[in-house]
Amino acid sequence: MAKDEKPPPAYCTWCGTQAPDGAPPTWTVQTSERGLQTLCEACTRSNLRSIEANLSTDYW
Ligand SMILES: [Zn+2]
Repeated sequence: MAKDEKPPPAYCTWCGTQAPDGAPPTWTVQTSERGLQTLCEACTRSNLRSIEANLSTDYW
C-alpha cells in the first residue's frame, strides 16, 4: 500500500514564501535557463503587471 505522497515543498523564487504541500494552482511554475522558477500568488501578480506594462509600452 502506498502512503499518501505529498509533493515536495515549494518556495517562491522571488520572495521565499513557502508552500509546504507544493505550489498551489495560483502559483506560477516555469522553467528557465537558471532552472525551475516558482512564483507565489503575489509575485505572479506583480510579474503579470510588469508584463502588461511592457505590452502597454510596446503597444503605444
Ligand atoms: Zn513570492
